[in-house]
Amino acid sequence: MFNSLIIKSRISGTYKVDFITDLNNQLSQINDNKSIFIIDKNVLNLFSESFKLIKSSSRLVIIESGERSKTIEYCQFVIKNLIELHVRKDNKLIAIGGGVTQDIVAFISSILFRGVSWEFFPTTLLAQSDSCIGSKSSINFDSYKNLLGTFNPPKQIYIYNEFLNTLPESEIRSGIGEMLHYFFTDGINLAKEISDQINEIIFDRSRLEYFIKNSLNIKKKVIEIDEFDESIRHIFNYGHTFGHALEAITNYSISHGQSVTLGMDLANYISMKLELLDPHSFKLMHEILQKNLPEFEFTDENIFNYLNALSKDKKNKGDKIGAILSKGPGKVEKRYIENNDWLRETILDYSNFLKAK
Ligand code: NAD
Ligand code: ZN
Repeated sequence: MFNSLIIKSRISGTYKVDFITDLNNQLSQINDNKSIFIIDKNVLNLFSESFKLIKSSSRLVIIESGERSKTIEYCQFVIKNLIELHVRKDNKLIAIGGGVTQDIVAFISSILFRGVSWEFFPTTLLAQSDSCIGSKSSINFDSYKNLLGTFNPPKQIYIYNEFLNTLPESEIRSGIGEMLHYFFTDGINLAKEISDQINEIIFDRSRLEYFIKNSLNIKKKVIEIDEFDESIRHIFNYGHTFGHALEAITNYSISHGQSVTLGMDLANYISMKLELLDPHSFKLMHEILQKNLPEFEFTDENIFNYLNALSKDKKNKGDKIGAILSKGPGKVEKRYIENNDWLRETILDYSNFLKAK
């Protein structure tokens, strides 16, 4: 399989993803007097040996990741640090961390001097298999997630598999959920392959490289056509409308990717009840998804909150929920569905179906 991937962008021409095996060599090559490193504190501590060179560099900003750092105020703090390091328009920012570090650095580099160039070493599975390509940067505002943002891809992405070794199982399952959603927009084979190996993957992260490459390749084909999320890229909302509402009512205690896993299973269940999806295909997909489902049950107590969270989705039209439904593996379709008693009963039915298994 390929060791690098070129992504076409309407913003920057092209940018490249390289799968690297020698981190030290790569870091020493890019460590020149134009580079400023912005690195997640946890990653710096976990890989302190590899980052010796960077640590001794005076051009380094250490950031705290986590959703609470994705704010305007935190970006101002990072910009202040950059100014103290005498940042210039012709410098390049090198981000090292997960999706939060990515969003902060991508956002800052699009507004600082009206744009400075940036490169990215993604260190979480979610960032390696999904967010590192696609050009989006987003930060939160008040209670609104990802309200502010720009399109600003990095010039270069370096994927180093060994970063994945220190991630907890929950982060691996989150990344797997995200990859499953790319795989199911393409067919069933890759989804089945990854779910068959899920227990082995938790202990042997080197198995992930093959899936990361496939996930990025599926995403690449779509974002090259619709980088700005105006048409076909909407298929990647599969599992996300139902998943985001789950994240919201559980106060983000269930990871994004596992929420998306349940979101896909629920979207498929609804699709089956609407007779868009045949029961056999539902079952095939369910057997795959169930290996990554979070512990959760819809009940008379939480269903109202859930429907309410669904009604707030950005993609809704009037009172209708804009959901990506499934007609089978590789066949997703956007539909607007009523937020009514039928939907309520169908979602409760879905939980009864899970319990009965
Ligand atoms: P994150 O960056 O906060 O990382 C999660 C945790 O893992 C943090 O505590 C971090 O310090 C730690 N960590 C990072 N690398 C590690 C490693 N190698 N070993 C051990 N721990 C490590 O979060 P994330 O899950 O990577 O990303 C989630 C964020 O990404 C969300 O804010 C989401 O909105 C955003 N996102 C952005 C895009 C986009 O296109 N811009 C796409 C999807 C998600
Ligand atoms: Zn997602």
